Amino acid sequence: AKRARNGRQHWYAAHLDDEAGERLELIEDLRVALETGQLSLAYQPIVSLPDGRVVAVEALIRWQHPVRGAVSPAAFIPIAEQTGIILEVGAWVLRTACVQAVTWRDTLGAEAPGRVSVNVSARQLAEPGFADLVASVLAWTGLDAHHLVLEVTETAVFGGGQAVRTVQELHELGIKIALDDFGTGHSSLGLLQTVPVDILKVDKSFVETITMAGRHAVIASALIQVSQGLGLSAVAEGVETAEQAAELYRLGYRMAQGFHFGRPAAEPDFTRRMPLAVAG
Ligand code: C2E
Ligand code: CA
Ligand code: CA
Ligand code: CA
Repeated sequence: AKRARNGRQHWYAAHLDDEAGERLELIEDLRVALETGQLSLAYQPIVSLPDGRVVAVEALIRWQHPVRGAVSPAAFIPIAEQTGIILEVGAWVLRTACVQAVTWRDTLGAEAPGRVSVNVSARQLAEPGFADLVASVLAWTGLDAHHLVLEVTETAVFGGGQAVRTVQELHELGIKIALDDFGTGHSSLGLLQTVPVDILKVDKSFVETITMAGRHAVIASALIQVSQGLGLSAVAEGVETAEQAAELYRLGYRMAQGFHFGRPAAEPDFTRRMPLAVAG
């Protein structure tokens, strides 16, 4: 029994070392990825429910590692935040998404999505120079500030301080601010009084259960009412079925995003989806 316990302790220590080493290697590899073009962006449509138009696209980072294959952002973004390399990764994402938006604007004309939405991490917002960086990317690419949405999380702006000042500066530039994963963080409602927010992205956990019987639609319903009451736009995230889309529409949602409307893709499909407003 003693041997087994020692063996287990040994395994545990080795496992911890592996994990720390693994993280270090991931960060090293991410630096290389930045320099050698292993990173790319996938774009997911955000659709207007009444007329089926693609009103915006969200840029989502993709990493094709030469040995590991595709590495999920859920695996490397948190580590990139802790080490600060997110500042370089984030700047690359912003430049790339803005260049792409301008390309669509110039080649697709009226068919181009009206806005591109870019995720911004807490670490980026904490940088006093971040709003200036965004302004210079807009100037350099020629993208209008009104065509850019920056998605921030509740936890990133929860502490107040520089993060909130940065969001205010960005908002003054004419950039739209979306609160991501809305409803999952702390003090969601209180934040809306101190942070200039334009769009609430209602988390997929509230959409998942919406067509089930019982009280599951209560939160999704309450959140659309909050957004309407405050004059904000709302986007329902993670919509996977036509039933969910119809129920969201019935509750008052007018914008949605999810696999039902289109998966993230390097070259997204901008054609109109089936409008829901004609039903009934
Ligand atoms: P997020 O910002 O909440 O992005 C939405 C995630 O949900 C994406 O995962 C997307 O592929 C996925 N998704 C979209 N529709 C559906 C659906 O119908 N069902 C389900 N189950 N999932 C759906 P992804 O691309 O793996 O990104 C995960 C997270 O990584 C993002 O969550 C975001 O927090 C972060 N992330 C991605 N790209 C960036 C980036 O460029 N910068 C930063 N800072 N974070 C990023
Ligand atoms: Ca390596
Ligand atoms: Ca997002
Ligand atoms: Ca989200």
